[in-house]
Amino acid sequence: MTFNDRTALVTGAGRGIGKAIAEDLARQGVKLICVSKNPASCGAVAEAITAAGGTAVARAVDVSDAKAVETVAAELIQEFGPIDILINNAGITRDGLLARMSEADWNAVIQTNLSSAFFWTKAVGWPMCRNRWGRIVNISSVSGIMGNAGQANYSAAKAGLIGFSKTTAKEFARRNVTVNVVAPGFIQTDMTADLPEEVQKGVTDFIPMRRFGQPADIAHATSFLCSEEASYITGQVFTVDGGMAM
Ligand code: NAD
Repeated sequence: MTFNDRTALVTGAGRGIGKAIAEDLARQGVKLICVSKNPASCGAVAEAITAAGGTAVARAVDVSDAKAVETVAAELIQEFGPIDILINNAGITRDGLLARMSEADWNAVIQTNLSSAFFWTKAVGWPMCRNRWGRIVNISSVSGIMGNAGQANYSAAKAGLIGFSKTTAKEFARRNVTVNVVAPGFIQTDMTADLPEEVQKGVTDFIPMRRFGQPADIAHATSFLCSEEASYITGQVFTVDGGMAM
């Protein structure tokens, strides 16, 4: 894959899928801005990338806070120059059947998983358009494609990301900025480690490949969509799910 001296910002880069994406891009020579809510975790990822010979900095930002995103994005562009690649990966779950889902849990998931992409894309996507080069990848989920009982808030946010991505793909296409979605199936991270063992077993039986994926599986697909080689791919949903959503 070809990357010509690019800078990427990855949200939720402190662990799991975001960490794997940051590390994979760094291995290809991309400079990294690792964003997470927790300064220690994104700091440790940036340090590990630097120790391995890459270039990375970390910023602790709550991606659900519009003002914080706007301020930090402007500071980062001032300090490091244009951000060429944006990965909206940060996400949370607040699962529960609809009848028992609180408004607070609904709002938290929509704000963190969907509104955050709107905040970052406004702050970073327009400068990309002015530069006439950019890649945005939004990390959705098969839950946003197929639905999943107990995840009304999460699947609404993840489906929303798909519509948001297709629209921004159309708005940015003439400026050579692509916007795509990666929709993971069940991936082995802290997020899925919280699922009870019987649920994990039930889910595995439903996956044609009969196993959870690894964060690196998502990272490889994401890196490809950010490379020069993917320059004519935009507005697409790339499922990486062991065959679940076909
Ligand atoms: P994770 O819980 O292991 O990591 C999430 C990261 O996001 C953490 O670094 C956390 O600090 C960060 N984060 C959460 N809220 C934040 C906020 N308000 N501001 C800044 N950072 C915040 O999760 P993961 O499994 O690595 O998932 C990453 C993404 O992939 C999420 O969007 C998730 O919905 C999606 N996804 C995961 C799976 C899976 O099976 N693990 C499946 C489909 C989609």
